[in-house]
Amino acid sequence: MNAIYQNDTWGRIRTELRNSIGVDAFNNWIEPISFLGVETNLASFSVPNSFIGNWVSRNYGDAIIHLFGTEGVVISRLGFVAPEQTAARKPKPAPQQQAPKTTATALPASPLDSRFTFEQFVVGTPNELAHAAARRVAEGGDVTFNPLFLYGGVGLGKTHLMHAIAHEIRATRPEARVLYLSAEQFMFRFVQALRFKDMHSFKEQFRSVDMLMVDDLQFIAGKNSTQDEFFHTFNALIEQGKQIVISADRSPGEIEGLEERIRSRLQWGLVVDLHPTNYELRLGILHAKAEAQSKRYPDVGLDVKVLEFLAHRISSNVRVLEGALTRLFAFADLVGRDITLDMAQDTLADLLRQSDRKVTIEEIQRKVAEHYNLRISDLLSPRRARAVARPRQVAMFLSKSLTSKSLPEIGRKFGGRDHTTVIHAVKRVEEMRQTDSQIADDVEILRRTLEA
Ligand code: ADP
Ligand code: MG
Repeated sequence: MNAIYQNDTWGRIRTELRNSIGVDAFNNWIEPISFLGVETNLASFSVPNSFIGNWVSRNYGDAIIHLFGTEGVVISRLGFVAPEQTAARKPKPAPQQQAPKTTATALPASPLDSRFTFEQFVVGTPNELAHAAARRVAEGGDVTFNPLFLYGGVGLGKTHLMHAIAHEIRATRPEARVLYLSAEQFMFRFVQALRFKDMHSFKEQFRSVDMLMVDDLQFIAGKNSTQDEFFHTFNALIEQGKQIVISADRSPGEIEGLEERIRSRLQWGLVVDLHPTNYELRLGILHAKAEAQSKRYPDVGLDVKVLEFLAHRISSNVRVLEGALTRLFAFADLVGRDITLDMAQDTLADLLRQSDRKVTIEEIQRKVAEHYNLRISDLLSPRRARAVARPRQVAMFLSKSLTSKSLPEIGRKFGGRDHTTVIHAVKRVEEMRQTDSQIADDVEILRRTLEA
């Protein structure tokens, strides 16, 4: 089973647990633990300390084992790994446990998804910079920016780009040692190395690579000994002029619990943001994925209107978009029908309802007013002072991009303004985002809080 699948499984189990034990208990006990993986009926978790591990095991162990079962994953035991405890433990004579072979021999790399190549990556305005930077890194040559730090929301293609770099280097420079792994696995290996007193080979393995890629770095925030080790590995590689690529779900400055020295080190390199997809990019991705699906199901016909419909209606992340398409093809094949608009609406009813949770203009106005320390009535007022007009334009821009309201409707909600005012605001903010990083940041922060 691959790690992505396991994480989804754990995600669903977490949701179940949150519902059954309540938010408070969930936040106290389940939130602090991180799922590491399943190996021969043992599900492993990292925990901040053994107390939490014992508590979870005693109180929720049976429920967790049961929930894995309902997900089709047979588990008989849970294991909890507490880094500090392990580190502090006195050496015992003749330890019984043996380090798993992988830590001592092979590089602890994660498997690469063969579909995650540059060829399969569709480029659009929201991801062109990240794509270009990834290409540059894959070409090799002089290390121009180190590290490359890619960040952005879930399902926007961070992992895809990192795998693509690895694939490319494997193909063009097979002798180069490229190590790709998630931050979670980095920690898991580190903890194992401590536990099995294997630090020497751990360090050697990580410091002898030509390129290190660590995915989802936010995972090690707050995990201090892991962060320390990461910092040393990072510095050692940078000093040798080896390329480092890192991804996270937010920018270095926004990752809470990240040590200051790591944060500033990360900002030395190139920090690139994968923006949320826009309609054109979603449509492009859907076309590419539909082509691939059509090869798999040559008998299934597809009305291209369906792709436009999906690109409009599912704006969350590319993974969801892809899942929707896969479902349509599988279903059409099963029942021997073509994919039409009606059929898509029926088949995806649940998914479409979910993505219907749309932000309202009122919410946007409230958040924008809060952000700029204004009153909502200021945004609706005729005042033209810049301190009010700018935020108003930002709010109109967000209303246009986050809701499906028409320009006249938006104008009406802003104190009865004309739709041409809204058009002007949208254009203005689009321009300013390119030239004024303050506006770009404001829009970004607001968009994220509104979409959260
Ligand atoms: P992240 O790591 O940012 O959460 P992933 O890289 O796992 O996201 O992408 C989620 C899914 O969406 C993957 O199947 C990936 O192939 C696909 N995907 C994301 N962006 C693109 C793109 N621009 N072109 C093609 N596929 C994409
Ligand atoms: Mg990812």
